[in-house]
Amino acid sequence: MNIPFVDLKAQYHSIRDEIDAAISSVIEETSFIGGKHVKKFEEEFAAYLGVKHCIGVGNGTDALAIALRGIGLNPGDEVVVPANTFIGTAEAVTLAGGKPIFADCDPITYTITPETVEKAITPKTKGIIPVHLYGNAAPVGELKELAERKGLFLLEDAAQAHGVTYKEGKIGSFGRAATFSFYPGKNLGAYGDGGCIATNDSELATRIRMYANHGRIKKYDHEFEGTNSRLDGIQAAILSVKLKYLDDWTEKRRTVAQLYTEKLAGLPLATPSETPGSRHVYHLYVIRLQNRDKIKEILSQEGITTGVHYPEALPNLTAYKHLGHKPEDFPFASRCSKEVLSLPIFPEMTIEQVETVCEALKTALSKA
Ligand SMILES: *Cc1c(COP(=O)(O)O)cnc(C)c1O
Repeated sequence: MNIPFVDLKAQYHSIRDEIDAAISSVIEETSFIGGKHVKKFEEEFAAYLGVKHCIGVGNGTDALAIALRGIGLNPGDEVVVPANTFIGTAEAVTLAGGKPIFADCDPITYTITPETVEKAITPKTKGIIPVHLYGNAAPVGELKELAERKGLFLLEDAAQAHGVTYKEGKIGSFGRAATFSFYPGKNLGAYGDGGCIATNDSELATRIRMYANHGRIKKYDHEFEGTNSRLDGIQAAILSVKLKYLDDWTEKRRTVAQLYTEKLAGLPLATPSETPGSRHVYHLYVIRLQNRDKIKEILSQEGITTGVHYPEALPNLTAYKHLGHKPEDFPFASRCSKEVLSLPIFPEMTIEQVETVCEALKTALSKA
C-alpha cells in the first residue's frame, strides 16, 4: 500500500462542491484583490482566534516580516528565533532589518524555552519569536513573562499551529502579534500561497495593513513605503470554506496521532509530547530515532513517504555560515536534525494506513 505524506486531494474531494462554488463566486464578482471575500475571512479568522484584528497577506514569511516592520526594528536590533525551525522565521528578521539570534530547543517539546532564550539575550535584543513547532505550543505563558520582564516584544510564529489551544486561549492571541501561513500543506491551507497577521493592537494592525499595501489606506495616498503582499480573493474564499472544518480536521489528526503513539509504544524511538496546558494539532507527527536516514529509505521502498523537519538546524546552514556557529553551540537542535522523522499524517488518514506505517516501521527498525 502506497501511503502519501499528506493527501490534499482526499480533502478536496470531501468538500469539492463548496470549494468549486466559492471559487466561481469570486470569479463572477471579479473580486480578485481585496474585496468582500478577504474581509469576510479576516473577520472569521480573527473571531476564531479571539483577537481583534486579522490582516491577510501573501504568505507566512511575509506575515512575519511585515509584523516585524509594523513593530519596528532598527539596524542591529536582535530578535531571538529557534535554531530548529523553517528558515522563514529567521529570514523575516533579516528582511525587516534586524539580526536573527538562535536559541536551542527543548528535547521533549522541540520548542524554545525561557532557559534557552535567556542565553541568547544581549543588550541589543528587541524581541522573541517562538515557533509552535509541528503544531505543539511553545511555553508561551512563560515566554511572555520573560519578554515582559526584559522589555521585549513577543511575536508568535503560528505557521504550524492553526487551532492550538493553550490554557484559556488560542495560540495566536498571546504575543504582540502572531503570524500564520496558509501554504497548501499547513493545517489550514489555501490552494496557493497565503498568510495572515493576528493582533489585538489596533494601531499596530493599521500600520501592518498599510505596510502590506504600499504604505497606504486610500488609493494613492502613500504615507510611507511598504510592499505588495496581499491575500487574494480566491484564496480567502477557499479558506472561509475550510475554516469551518478546521476543528473537525484537528480532532481527526489527534486521533491519528494517538493511534500512532499507542502502536509505537515500547519501540526504540521517542514519540511526540504535548506542552503542558496545551492541545497539540499535529501539523506533523515527529518521532526521533537512531539510523534515521536508513529507516527513511526502507520505508520509502515500502511506498511510505516520510519527511524530515528539518535536516539541518538553521545555524548549521550555508545561509548562516557567516555567523560562525558550530553544531555544538546548539546541541539539541543539531542532534534533532539527525534524528527526527515525520510520519504521514492528515485528517483523512485511515486506521489501516496508520497500522501499515507502524508495521513497516517495526520491520525497518529490526533491519536497520
Ligand atoms: C511554513 C512556515 C513559514 C513560512 O510560511 P510560507 O507561507 O511558506 O511563507 C514560516 N515559519 C514556519 C514555522 C513555517 O512552518
